[in-house]
Amino acid sequence: MISFISESGHDPTLRALAWLNGIASGSGSRGRLFVLIYHQVMDRPDPMRKEELDVSRFSVHMDLLARYFNVLPLDHAIRMLKAGRLPARSVSITFDDGYRNNYTNALPVLEERGLTATFFIATGFLDGGRMWNDTVIEAFRSIPGESIHLPEIGLNEIALTDADRRSEAAQGVIRAIKHLPYSERAEWVSRIGELAKPLPDDLMMTTGQVQDLRQRGMAIGGHTVNHPILAKLDQRGAEREIVDGKEMLEGLLKEKLSLFAYPNGRKDQDYGEREIRIVEKCGFSAALTTNHGASARDTNAYELKRFTPWDRTRSRFMLRMARYYRM
Ligand SMILES: [Zn+2]
Repeated sequence: MISFISESGHDPTLRALAWLNGIASGSGSRGRLFVLIYHQVMDRPDPMRKEELDVSRFSVHMDLLARYFNVLPLDHAIRMLKAGRLPARSVSITFDDGYRNNYTNALPVLEERGLTATFFIATGFLDGGRMWNDTVIEAFRSIPGESIHLPEIGLNEIALTDADRRSEAAQGVIRAIKHLPYSERAEWVSRIGELAKPLPDDLMMTTGQVQDLRQRGMAIGGHTVNHPILAKLDQRGAEREIVDGKEMLEGLLKEKLSLFAYPNGRKDQDYGEREIRIVEKCGFSAALTTNHGASARDTNAYELKRFTPWDRTRSRFMLRMARYYRM
């Protein structure tokens, strides 16, 4: 792992950008909370998952946060935000879904820097499960042959000649079937999964790893059981997904959960007023979306914003943070 701390020790650009972030974030009753969202932290760059960070880039992010920002536990940060007592440059770190590499790769980086994070877990995939999009990606990594023909979903003669083409093909299939009715999509996923058996069954955390995260000072939040688009379910289905996921984790951790993150997380498309009411009624005290920007004191506690700067250089990362503090 490369150490960026020593390099950045006297970097005047980064110090200036930290100052800019202090202005942009405000403090006290004008304070704004920046919540970062991560999914996977890969061992190394993966051509099949170009949008995911690997552990060395993740370490750069964490070095910058530890050095120039006030990283707060999310529940504490939300209380400070609502009380109008948030310090400048406040940041909380979150992970969605429950990937095993959060435990194996992200946790050591966080612990080395004395940082805490909140992990939102979709309980249905713990202990050997796999999310549908990962089945598609992992299948396309290893489907034998140089091309594939799936005319029923509008994909003719897709090339599989190298990792880039395989990645594009997987993303094309994901786009083509993402919004199909649940059972129809599941049928496609299982058909595609059959083309490339065996697929990995260790992508997600075990229940023991979730318990250990908590014991080591990290926070755990709800993220449903099966990660559905809640807005597409009927009332009863949406309630079951939210409440069952919560109760499973509460049983596992022997404590009440206070934080929830909506799957996919975009307003109206993925959740709406109905989901907000369910989440509040079943006892969560705040909920996180994927709506971009930072949250202010008057932001609805059940619609807190999240964002991750994707930039590859440290200065651009910090410049984008300053911009998004004001969104
Ligand atoms: Zn998710």
